[in-house]
Amino acid sequence: MARLAIDKIGICGTDLHAFRGRQPFFEYPRILGHELGVVVESVGPGVTDIQPGDRCAVEPYLNCGTCVACQAGKTNCCTSLSVLGVHIDGGMKESILYPTEKLYPSETLETQQLALVETLGIGAHAVDRARPQKDEKVLVIGAGPIGLSVIQFALVTGADVAVLELIPDRRQFVQDQLGIPTVFGDLETVPDALEGWTDGDLPTLVFDATGNPKSMAAAFGYVANGGRLTLVGLVQGDITFNDPEFHRREMTILASRNARSEDFRRIIRLIESGEVDTGPWITHRTGYAGFIEAFPTWLEPEAGVVKAMLDLGDSG
Ligand SMILES: [Zn+2]
Ligand SMILES: [Zn+2]
Repeated sequence: MARLAIDKIGICGTDLHAFRGRQPFFEYPRILGHELGVVVESVGPGVTDIQPGDRCAVEPYLNCGTCVACQAGKTNCCTSLSVLGVHIDGGMKESILYPTEKLYPSETLETQQLALVETLGIGAHAVDRARPQKDEKVLVIGAGPIGLSVIQFALVTGADVAVLELIPDRRQFVQDQLGIPTVFGDLETVPDALEGWTDGDLPTLVFDATGNPKSMAAAFGYVANGGRLTLVGLVQGDITFNDPEFHRREMTILASRNARSEDFRRIIRLIESGEVDTGPWITHRTGYAGFIEAFPTWLEPEAGVVKAMLDLGDSG
């Protein structure tokens, strides 16, 4: 175990829904905070791989290690998974005790970059599930933080990525900051536009990162014959699709949940090498003093939040 000084805390939809009381599997009261950039204060006896002073990303997924999923290396969907800041109290406090095997140090990254690793893990794992080929035509639906992380890792594979996003500011962000030229924003014309982009074939891989049931149902119609659809965002309820259309395509549907332990190490390496640039992501930040006022405003779409961060220290 190690005692961690909490330096940066990323805020995401999970936190905002929990704050509003709209996170059905939440038990209250609960201390939030699952996207953490920390500095190690002290370590327990026998700990040698982590030292006091190390800056670390924190894997919030506490898995059992023995269930059918854990045995298969799928630590992300452990049958008794407990997520820090969701099922148990999280990191919105000065310090926490945490198992060292869930800490991922970096000598060069700042704590604000380390606090983004968990969000990036969602996209990294979703892309791993679907394994795009180089130059494969890939459509990502939704360019919120999760969609952005999917886009980032799809680009790392060399896929040809297009984005469907209804909010103009988000389309602009994708074009300006991620250099994606093919961005669709009109649901009426998108089927034709997708055929135009793919010479009539439609994309062979589609990711839905909206968490919107209408979008997820519509996504079945955007996939090429023989293609695959990866559902990254989730909804509380059912998703329906037309079976003949699904069978005609012989489509593969993939779910993607959280990220695996090994993804954390890989993502840190990709940020360290500059292949993944988190620079433009943090659009809003505050310290504890301004937090109570700022937090509810981040719920509003017009706030234009890509990533908001609670900044408790000055470690970068
Ligand atoms: Zn999150
Ligand atoms: Zn397990």
